Amino acid sequence: MSAPPSDRCPARLAQVRGALGRSDLDALLVTSLPNVRYLTGFAGSNALVVVTPLDCLLFTDFRYATQVAAEVSPAVTVHIEPASLWKGVWGRLPACAGVARVGFESAHLLHQDFARLLEQGSRWQWRPTTDVVEALRAVKDAGEVAAIEKAVGIAESAWRATVPQLHAGLTERQVAGILERALREAGSEGFPFPSIVASGPQSALPHARAGERVLQRGDLLLVDFGAVADGYCSDLTRTVALGPADSRQREMHAVVAEANRRASGGIRAEMSGKDADALARDYIASSGWGEAFGHSLGHGIGLEVHEAPRLARGADAPLPAGAVVTIEPGIYIPGWGGIRIEDDVLLTATGARVLTTVPRGLMELH
Ligand code: ZN
Ligand code: ZN
Repeated sequence: MSAPPSDRCPARLAQVRGALGRSDLDALLVTSLPNVRYLTGFAGSNALVVVTPLDCLLFTDFRYATQVAAEVSPAVTVHIEPASLWKGVWGRLPACAGVARVGFESAHLLHQDFARLLEQGSRWQWRPTTDVVEALRAVKDAGEVAAIEKAVGIAESAWRATVPQLHAGLTERQVAGILERALREAGSEGFPFPSIVASGPQSALPHARAGERVLQRGDLLLVDFGAVADGYCSDLTRTVALGPADSRQREMHAVVAEANRRASGGIRAEMSGKDADALARDYIASSGWGEAFGHSLGHGIGLEVHEAPRLARGADAPLPAGAVVTIEPGIYIPGWGGIRIEDDVLLTATGARVLTTVPRGLMELH
């Protein structure tokens, strides 16, 4: 049994304070809700947080008065604001000693709120920051890995329940309904993203939505979905054939499966995201399908389904041990279809552990 998330908040706040000190900042205004959750334990939908040298202030509204008591770390001081959360910040921040230079999250602040900083907050110096909390979130602790494994398990049992129900004649949306019901029944808290169910030529669109197309015998069916457990996401993709696959479908699927196998088997912490991406990309290119793999190999998963680190051609930074990333090579041929096989992988100090276990071979449904 892992510790509740809020038990880890004091250590995370200490890490943020260390990062702020290195950037010559006294405090950090946190406006990203996943970052709020990571630092305080609070999972509500309306909050502002200020991490100061000696305290962490969380401002939310009366709807969450009960929830904060259950979720938020004792290392955090909660203020329930009757009017505006910003009013709470301007009321409390002056009492925080030693706060002059305050960072804000430049990727997570509306322009209208930036204007507030310059107007009502003019007594502080505001500095843009990027990825202060996101960089910490890239490295998962044991409790986070356990939550992701739980989300993987839920997604996999939903997939196993869905496969026997797949047949020609269903629409993509009906398939999404069957799958999403199975996800809920298996215990998913929600859906990390709208499930992608793409059949026949639609599967050539890497981010297709489930539409009204009717599944036909001979189609490839690409299904990309995930579960949420304890706030953490899983993300997996399988591509199946409706009826016996033809030789081209088998050949293409084998190329993607081998690219997936090479990347999952070869990825290591301290390798750059670019080199990890190349494990799959070089193989697909050597098979003659390089042009058909247009997206990056993968991304981190955690409280969000897309987070640091990135496995992509432009990602030069080394991958940290403790990251959980997707490995999702694909081939997409407009008008014909597409194949993607996506797994979730934990990078450890000594190697990598593939968390997803449902079969990757081309399933031919009858
Ligand atoms: Zn996915
Ligand atoms: Zn993904």
